[in-house]
Amino acid sequence: MPFVWRMQGGMNRRTILILGTLALVLITGVFSLRRLQADREYSSDQFLMDTLISIKVYGRNPETLKKAVAEAYAEMRRIAELADSFPPPGSAAAETSDICRINAQAGKRPVRVDGDTLGMLVLAKKYCELSGGAFDVTVGPLMDLWGFGGKNPQLPPADRIKAALAKVGSKDLVLNQQDGTVFLRRAGMKLDLGAVAKGYATEKALQVLKNHGIEKALIDAGGNIRVLGRNTHDAPWRIGIKDPRKSDAIVAVLQLEDASAVTSADYYRGFEAGGKRYHHILDPRTGYPADHNISVTVVTNDAGLADILSTVFFVLTPDEALELAGKMAGVELVLVSADRRIRHTPSLQGAIQVQPAAGYHYDPQGKMARRIELAPGTKSSFVVDGRVGPSAVEVDGTRVRMVEAPCAAGTCIKQGWIAHPGQTVVCIPGEIMIRIEGAAPLDAVTR
Ligand code: AMP
Ligand code: MG
Repeated sequence: MPFVWRMQGGMNRRTILILGTLALVLITGVFSLRRLQADREYSSDQFLMDTLISIKVYGRNPETLKKAVAEAYAEMRRIAELADSFPPPGSAAAETSDICRINAQAGKRPVRVDGDTLGMLVLAKKYCELSGGAFDVTVGPLMDLWGFGGKNPQLPPADRIKAALAKVGSKDLVLNQQDGTVFLRRAGMKLDLGAVAKGYATEKALQVLKNHGIEKALIDAGGNIRVLGRNTHDAPWRIGIKDPRKSDAIVAVLQLEDASAVTSADYYRGFEAGGKRYHHILDPRTGYPADHNISVTVVTNDAGLADILSTVFFVLTPDEALELAGKMAGVELVLVSADRRIRHTPSLQGAIQVQPAAGYHYDPQGKMARRIELAPGTKSSFVVDGRVGPSAVEVDGTRVRMVEAPCAAGTCIKQGWIAHPGQTVVCIPGEIMIRIEGAAPLDAVTR
């Protein structure tokens, strides 16, 4: 018995060890094989709709990935051709473009169009009405006058702006969904889908990827971002919002899953005249560039809607935009207003890290937030009145600590120094938050 026991015992311990190791190796092997298989990336770039479109997809079968991406681009190209407003009159491209055909028949007759053209225009008209005309795809005559579509945009004389304004107005955009026709009632009217087509095409492309069974993807259409699923680390995608005044910096990071982030900003196309900068997003009610905001990012699950809404909110005042966004289910908004305030819809809290660089004010709750830059030599202490009581905060050079923080268990750091060079501490009234904001890697930047 002792022998057997010893044998058993000895064998057992060793066997368990060997089997355990083997099992571990096997399990790890299977997992890493799975991960390897799941992690294959296929990416491709194409120039379309005046911008570089990049598609990244992840999955196990390289052939499927390649085919899906090719079809997604084909779908984007189809939408781009339908919506193109610039092909030379009489060219083949002008014949393919529904928008050109509609414009050519303005004041004459309705034109039968593709279902997607009608789809884009139905959405456009809806948001024109909802925004009180701040968004209007009949802005074409004004865009032509300013010349933003061409190489030499310029400040037009006031009387010509007034004349162009008379040809703008979606009340004379007649959409007949039964017949599948579109009619611009007055001669000289002109559609411009510049604020709609890229997002709509992006969403259609994403649907193509999904139809091929793809569950992880990122489409970057010149900064119009649409992500599918979670990123390769099985975490939310990290999307930066570009600093509107510094091309290599960002002002915030968004964490997104199955969502789109689209930015409308004043820095894409513009020119200077008489010391003033003019840009391509016009207020169709005045005929001049909208000047309340400098960058507006919309987060929602549909890239088409995000594209429209980013332009809608850009033209509205920040208060109007935040109020309207607050009424829309599933729509989040981040805006940088002309006075350099960064604001966002409250429900975005938790999915956004704002990194307000010098010159910007971050104001998450509509009230002024306390902001201190960590720099050698800084020394201060202050009290923030939080939801659960007042807390003392001490800043010493590049470190900061909360001296007293009566916060709920596990929700905030109670003691100890937090140090990280070049980082920002944000204390938000009503919440008490110390946020460490480093330069974490990004999946993409919306700009
Ligand atoms: P986005 O970058 O999506 O905001 O779109 C800007 C483009 O939309 C411009 O280049 C114009 O083609 C068009 N656009 C400009 N102003 C307006 C407006 N108020 N409503 C609708 N489209 C506009
Ligand atoms: Mg837009």
